[in-house]
Amino acid sequence: PATPDAATLAPALDLLKRIWGYDAFRGVQAQIVSTVAGGGNAMVLMPTGGGKSLCYQVPSLLRPGVGIIVSPLIALMKDQVDTLRGLGVRAAYLNSTLSLDGVREVEAALLSGELDLLYAAPERLLLPRTLDLLERAPVALFAVDEAHCVSQWGHDFRPEYQGLSVLPERFPDVPRMALTATADDRTRADILRVLDLGAAPQFISSFDRPNIGYRVGQKDSPKTQLLDFIRAEHAGDAGIVYCLSRKSVEETAKWLQAQGVDAVAYHAGLPPRERTHAQDRFLNEEGLVVVATVAFGMGIDKPNVRFVAHLDLPKSMEGYYQETGRAGRDGLPSTAWMVYGLSDVVNVRRMLASSDAPEDVKRVEAGKLDALLTYCETAACRREVLLAYFGEGYQGPCGNCDTCLNPPRVRDMTREAQMALSAAIRTGNRFGAAHLTDVLLGRATEKVVSMNHHTLPTFGVGAAHDEKTWRGVLRQLVSLGFLAAGEHHGLSATGKARTLLKGEATLTLREDTLMPRARRAEKHP
Ligand code: ADP
Ligand code: ZN
Repeated sequence: PATPDAATLAPALDLLKRIWGYDAFRGVQAQIVSTVAGGGNAMVLMPTGGGKSLCYQVPSLLRPGVGIIVSPLIALMKDQVDTLRGLGVRAAYLNSTLSLDGVREVEAALLSGELDLLYAAPERLLLPRTLDLLERAPVALFAVDEAHCVSQWGHDFRPEYQGLSVLPERFPDVPRMALTATADDRTRADILRVLDLGAAPQFISSFDRPNIGYRVGQKDSPKTQLLDFIRAEHAGDAGIVYCLSRKSVEETAKWLQAQGVDAVAYHAGLPPRERTHAQDRFLNEEGLVVVATVAFGMGIDKPNVRFVAHLDLPKSMEGYYQETGRAGRDGLPSTAWMVYGLSDVVNVRRMLASSDAPEDVKRVEAGKLDALLTYCETAACRREVLLAYFGEGYQGPCGNCDTCLNPPRVRDMTREAQMALSAAIRTGNRFGAAHLTDVLLGRATEKVVSMNHHTLPTFGVGAAHDEKTWRGVLRQLVSLGFLAAGEHHGLSATGKARTLLKGEATLTLREDTLMPRARRAEKHP
């Protein structure tokens, strides 16, 4: 859709100024607001901190009736509503924390047209009683926040979100918007299907957060590394430290406190009162460090978080992006810092493998972890790799990530890349990384022999390297588009592979991600 002209936007700008005190919309906000205020549907993909809230709040106020905001974040609804009321907006929420009287009160306000905005948890909205009520009340729009929750491909699947498909069925004339900060192609397709938004314009903002500096290091003594980082660059700053387990959350928080850092623990196993207290302190105090599991942060709007640190590897690129995105919402310089080690990789893989998700979901999740590892191991600009994952063709160097600022030592692995590609081609472009590695290393496994791959000229050409190196080479070939992963993990050479095979392209890998040659050979000379 075209950029709306000044006359169309005037009422929206007037509201923006009068209620929020802002002078202008940011980026695509204006287009979204005018589309929805005009009765249209919209799909909104905007990074965390990009300003999604105004995209539904302003049209809700411009249109007659109440704007219904579907959100999974029950714990935050009250805060959001309090803030809006403070601005003079007639807002309320419906979720399981309300008493029966509280529910009746909101319902009455809804029916008598006394509300501008109503936040609702999906399970509450989808009750027959609530839906009947909405059919009798004027509804301005439905905004489905955190819309990626509809998809089991996302990292935050909530089955009740799928029930939202009743909205287009029962309220075909009410504008619908889906909003999310993370959506790959499959997730986006699920959102469009469930909310019947196939014909709606999609508003996609850049995912680049130029004020965040990205840093990834090898883990050796994580707590000390973290403390050194905080002391050197963020002493006295507010920050979030993510750990995988509740136990390491508590240990790390205690340890930081003992070192004089103002830190507090947060995880889902703590009593609700303690959690709320930690959250309130984080929001209201300057310079508090919250050590937390991923349970912390969704929907928390603290503009001046100066760093987000990961002591353990997140499960996916989406997770990493969303968590690091909580830094620097105010646009000031901030840091996303992470250390990871081989044991993290093993841990996350084990977690993924032991989940009871269906096989195809597990496969997608494994792919997302691989993408994150590629990012960790890259010698290229991190921002470039990160944005490439979200489909953006950003050209580094960005000058604000560790690989740009201190280029790592790399080794030319073009020859090895050619070997790996030829192993894929000669085995028929249908075997996975494990089998190709066996062929390259010259391992006559049962499968290798049964396929006659031990007679190929490629068999054993890679014996000078170890398994991890080959996995690294194959992973980089996939992430750079020289190999494509197909069904059952099968890897096939792409059109682009010819450039590498002909020597027109090169492949370099970081030295610190390559292990020394097989230890066993050293022990038994
Ligand atoms: P998201 O939901 O996309 O993570 P929010 O809607 O919470 O982001 O907005 C992030 C921050 O940006 C908030 O503090 C908000 O007040 C601010 N903001 C959003 N839009 C504007 C604007 N047009 N002008 C000034 N500040 C804005
Ligand atoms: Zn960079």
